[in-house]
Amino acid sequence: MLKLESFVFNPFAENTFVVYDEITLESILIDPGCSTAGEEDKLFGFIDSHRLKPMMVVNTHGHIDHIIGNHAVKNKYGIPVAAHPDVNDDVSQAKRQAVWLGFRPQGEANIELADRYLKDGEPIKVGGSSLEVICTPGHARGSISLYAEIEGWVFTGDALFCRSIGRTDLAGGDYEQLRKSIRERLFRLPDDTTVFPGHGESTTVFDEQRYNMFI
Ligand SMILES: [Zn+2]
Ligand SMILES: [Zn+2]
Repeated sequence: MLKLESFVFNPFAENTFVVYDEITLESILIDPGCSTAGEEDKLFGFIDSHRLKPMMVVNTHGHIDHIIGNHAVKNKYGIPVAAHPDVNDDVSQAKRQAVWLGFRPQGEANIELADRYLKDGEPIKVGGSSLEVICTPGHARGSISLYAEIEGWVFTGDALFCRSIGRTDLAGGDYEQLRKSIRERLFRLPDDTTVFPGHGESTTVFDEQRYNMFI
C-alpha cells in the first residue's frame, strides 16, 4: 500500500504530494511547488526524515505553480521529471512567469523541462503499487491525472477541484474539452475514489458527480 503526505506551497497555495511505499520507501513527488528555501526544507525534511527514496517527479501539467520546485528536487535527488509531452509549450511560458513573479530572480535557468514523457494508460510503479496516467486535457495542454487503483486515489492537478474545475481561459484551455475529460475519464472511476486536486481540499468522485455545478 502507498502512503501520502501533502504540502501547500507557493503564493498560489498549490498542493504538492509525496506518494510512497511504506515498505520499500520508494516515492514519487507530484507537482513539487516549493518556491523558497523554507518550503524546500519542509519537503526535503519530510523525505529525508522518513528515509524515502525519491524515484521521479511527475508534473500534472506545466503551469508555474506546479513545476517551480522541479529544479530544486532534481538538484537534490538527481531524479527525472516526467510529464505529458504537450506540457512543453506551457513550460516556456512558465519560465517567463517565474521571472515576473519573482520566484526565480536568476531567470530561466531554474525551470526544468520534462526529461521523461508519459502517455495515457501508462503505469508509474511505486514500490509494490502503481499509479496510472489518465490524460485529462482542458485546463492546460498535456494535463494528466494519476490514479492509484488499490488505494482509491486520483490526483487531478488543476482539472477537477472540490466543487470547482480548472480555469480554461489560459493558453491551451478548453472548457468543453475539460468537461469531457472529467465526465469521460474521472467520473468513470469508482464513486468512493478520493480526489486530490492541485489546490484546495480533497473530495470524492461521488460528491463531485453530485454537487459540482461546473460539469
Ligand atoms: Zn494550472
Ligand atoms: Zn495550479
